[in-house]
Amino acid sequence: MAEIQNVLLLAGDALLYFVALATLLRARDRIGLGPFFCALGVLHFLETYLASIFYVTLPLGIVASPGSTVLFAGKLMLLLLLYIREDAVIVRQPIYGLLFGNVLVFALGFILRHHSVLPLAEGRSADFVFLDEMGGLMVWGTAILFLDCIVIILFYERTRAWFGGHVFARLLLSGAAVLTFDQVAFFTGLSFLTGAGLPVLIGGWIAKMGAVALYAALGTLYLTRYDRPLGRRAAPRIRDVLDTLTYRERYENLLARTGCDALTGTLDRHSLEAYGRRAVDSAAAAGRPLSLLLIDLDHFKEFNDRHGHSAGDRMLKQVAHEIMTATRMSDFTYRFGGEEFVVIADGLESEAAFELAEAVRAAVAATRAAGGTITVSIGIASCPRDAAGYDALFEVADRRLYESKMGGRNRVVGASMAFAVTAVRPGRA
Ligand code: GH3
Ligand code: MG
Ligand code: MG
Repeated sequence: MAEIQNVLLLAGDALLYFVALATLLRARDRIGLGPFFCALGVLHFLETYLASIFYVTLPLGIVASPGSTVLFAGKLMLLLLLYIREDAVIVRQPIYGLLFGNVLVFALGFILRHHSVLPLAEGRSADFVFLDEMGGLMVWGTAILFLDCIVIILFYERTRAWFGGHVFARLLLSGAAVLTFDQVAFFTGLSFLTGAGLPVLIGGWIAKMGAVALYAALGTLYLTRYDRPLGRRAAPRIRDVLDTLTYRERYENLLARTGCDALTGTLDRHSLEAYGRRAVDSAAAAGRPLSLLLIDLDHFKEFNDRHGHSAGDRMLKQVAHEIMTATRMSDFTYRFGGEEFVVIADGLESEAAFELAEAVRAAVAATRAAGGTITVSIGIASCPRDAAGYDALFEVADRRLYESKMGGRNRVVGASMAFAVTAVRPGRA
């Protein structure tokens, strides 16, 4: 009876954990990823605490901890969802952050024990043996998490060839494989530190498989109902994903992010010259699609004349904000000229880029700011379809922008879709 109750409670834990964190993840367009990462980090502490000291009994004599069953398995699945909807550049941030933070806990614990401590009431003193144990376990746990994350992502990419579009099968298999590996690795550390026995290993594994099945189902729901993609993303090369996760990709890509435009907060033209060209070249070399959006505000001179130059500036900022919100986190937005922006969307072929541009156009058109409204015209060029080099790609986008101005403005022109303005971006109403 009590065992059944424990199973139900674990399922309740998992549901609460997943729904709360998936909600934060889904809100990243509006609030950024900071809240999601912080929440994940805070729960990481509870997870390790529970895994070292809190175990419950389940049917068939299984012993499991909500720490590793619910929280750890859930964290791994959420990081996989983050990768699926964003990319490796984003997902590596929390992994390195957690590892760094845990090493720091360990280091601080080492200094703390050398304080001369004020004695408090009976039995209330810092338990450094426990803190050490926690610290060791956290460093060990995150070192494995680091490997787990890389393996689950690479494995997930691998399963594309076996299961194609069957998200559930892919999530389930990647999760099960990695958590099996993880259970053995984590148990090795746990038994070394706490003397945990074999039932913990086997019970923990069975419980984790149950959790993976639940999370795979929830993850499938999330990906197909609540956070649908903007068109298909081309399959990345596994080698590229690994290079990104281990920070071995071009360092210049990171540097480019510091060249920001002071007024709008987008990247500046200098960054575009440095990064855009390279992005196009590397996409072309890898045979990966990439799209370039050239965005120009409509009748902006008139807007300035009517509302004043500083209202114009505010409107420019707002438009930049709308563009960055409507695009994916992995897209790069540059201020190219006074009131012209460029978005480089790596991995997007022309149809998906059209949907993205349409979302940008609609978002800007719906915005009221600085005492007025404004619209944008957008020209899209995609590689390899339209051109293979940066200059040629830019020329095509510029020509299509001109076509969209000639067609009456407030519209998107991409390959063979001249003057279409009706496309709706799926799933992100
Ligand atoms: P359209 O593009 O629809 O053909 O008309 P437009 O009026 O937008 O024409 P154009 O692109 O040639 O005009 C650009 C105007 O944008 C000129 C200038 O008044 C305004 N502009 C450029 N940079 C800034 C800026 O930093 N702040 C403000 N307030 N206005 C700017
Ligand atoms: Mg212009
Ligand atoms: Mg203009």
